[in-house]
Amino acid sequence: MLDVCNPQVMRGLLAEYGFHFSKSKGQNFLTQRWVPQRIAEESGVEKDCGVLEIGPGFGPLTQELCLRAGKVAALEVDHSLKQVLERTVGEFDNLEVIFCDALKADLPALVAEKFGGLKPMACANLPYYITSPVLTKLLESRCFSSITVMVQKEVAQRICAKPGTADYSAFTILCQYHAQPELLFDVPANCFMPQPKVTSAVVCLRTRTAPPAEIADEALFFRTVRAAFAMRRKTLLNALSASFGEMNKAELTALLEGCGIAPTVRGETLGIPEFAEIANAIAARKG
Ligand code: SAH
Repeated sequence: MLDVCNPQVMRGLLAEYGFHFSKSKGQNFLTQRWVPQRIAEESGVEKDCGVLEIGPGFGPLTQELCLRAGKVAALEVDHSLKQVLERTVGEFDNLEVIFCDALKADLPALVAEKFGGLKPMACANLPYYITSPVLTKLLESRCFSSITVMVQKEVAQRICAKPGTADYSAFTILCQYHAQPELLFDVPANCFMPQPKVTSAVVCLRTRTAPPAEIADEALFFRTVRAAFAMRRKTLLNALSASFGEMNKAELTALLEGCGIAPTVRGETLGIPEFAEIANAIAARKG
């Protein structure tokens, strides 16, 4: 197996295939073998798993996943990596590299087609310019039993944030509604070529088998959450009334009080069960 994390090997591949890093494709390749090893190890990938990787690059994580998984499907947007990948991961017969934009892929169809009988998981060193849309897509597909990703550390903190903290956001709630995230470890900028400006971190999101609260109308739940965070410095009453024009303040006040929630709190202090209660009350009112 070619050591694609060895900077000398990497420089050889760059020269031989005339490859240039693309900033706009978020290309920061790993230069320390312990990183993909530990990501694959802690993702819990085993022989009974089908793993979706996004952005294999030169294939360091792909190699580690292929050594552990039953099957790996890797989505790569950059066609100019085709020959390099044939060289670095071509030896694995449990791997399929698919050249496409991960944001446009039909994930449920892909999982059904490639991972029949296997436990679907996702594992990736994500391109940072599309972290949130990719993660949202992975979660909303409801296909994967776990999603282990390397992201910018500040994004990892937002994913794992607790109510009432500065990192807590609508994206936090989206992640924690679908999964139970766990911060695994940090990866310093000097583990990449070229080096990114920020520290990275690996998070594992174990997807829930049942929602964390009973929710009557999921779209309404997320509309409520977005309303609260759109004006996170305002009281919950003012934030909701700005987004739910169909209810006046007196009505909203009564609705919140009926849920046992003070209209003067800030939405950013509420957990998923409280947001669920508010959204369910709004749904009940609409009938
Ligand atoms: N996994 C490699 C590379 C990480 S860099 C490593 O850890 O070394 C991110 C990778 O994602 C690059 O290979 C980039 O080309 C790819 N990528 C960027 N946008 C993508 C998209 N929309 N769909 C699929 N892959 C993408």
